[in-house]
Amino acid sequence: MEFLGQVKASFIDYPNKICTVYFVGGCNFRCPYCHNSHLLKDIGESIDEAQVFGYLEKRRNMVDGICVSGGEPTLHAGLEPFLGEVKRRGFLVKLDTNGTSPGVLENLLKNKRVDYVAMDIKAPFEKYEKVAGRPVDIEAIKRSIDLVRDLSADYEFRTTVCRELLEVGDVLEIAEYIKGSRRYILQNFRDCSSVLAGEGKLTPFAKEELDAVKDKVSGFFNEFKTR
Ligand code: SF4
Repeated sequence: MEFLGQVKASFIDYPNKICTVYFVGGCNFRCPYCHNSHLLKDIGESIDEAQVFGYLEKRRNMVDGICVSGGEPTLHAGLEPFLGEVKRRGFLVKLDTNGTSPGVLENLLKNKRVDYVAMDIKAPFEKYEKVAGRPVDIEAIKRSIDLVRDLSADYEFRTTVCRELLEVGDVLEIAEYIKGSRRYILQNFRDCSSVLAGEGKLTPFAKEELDAVKDKVSGFFNEFKTR
C-alpha cells in the first residue's frame, strides 16, 4: 500500500481512541463536497508501509490504532494484507469507506481485519448518482450497509449534507432505511479551498435544518450526532 497523507495523532477520527490517519489516493466517486480533491488526482506526500510501521512502533504507547481513509481504501488490492499486518502488531483498525466494494468489505470483516467501519451513505438511493458524481451500483451499497450492520464489531453510518445536494426530507429517507443501526452521524458541509466543487460553491445546512432532522431521527439509533 502507498499512502498520500497522514494525520499523526487524531482524537476525532476513531471514537474514544487516538489514531493515526492514513489517506489513500483515488476514488470511484466525485462528490462535489469532497475535501480531499488532491487525493482524487493521486497528489500527496507518498508514505510506504515501512514508514507506517516504523511510525506506529515508535508511537506504540501513544496511539491505539489507525484509520484508513481516502480516497476509497477498498479499491486498493494491498489493503487486506496491510491491515492484517497492522492487526498482527496489535493496533486497532478503523476503515472509512463509500461502500462500493461489498466483496472486499466482507472479506475484511470476516477475516477480522477491521474493528470499526465508518460508511458514507451519500443520499437516498434515487439521488445517489447526483451526489456521488458517478454511476453507482445501488445493490452494492445496500449489501455493504447490511454487512456493516451484521459483521462489524463497531460502526457508524454518516452523511455529509449541503443545501445544493440534499434536503431535510432526503436525510429522513436515509435515516428511515438504516433505522435501528448503532450510530448515524450527520456531517455538515464545511467549505475550504480543497473542496472538489470549488470554494464558495456549496452551502451547509442551517441549524434549523439540522435540528429538524435531529428531532425526527435521534430515537432511531443508539447514537445520533451532528458535527
Ligand atoms: S467524499 Fe466522495 S469523492 Fe471524496 S473520497 Fe469520499 S467518496 Fe470519494
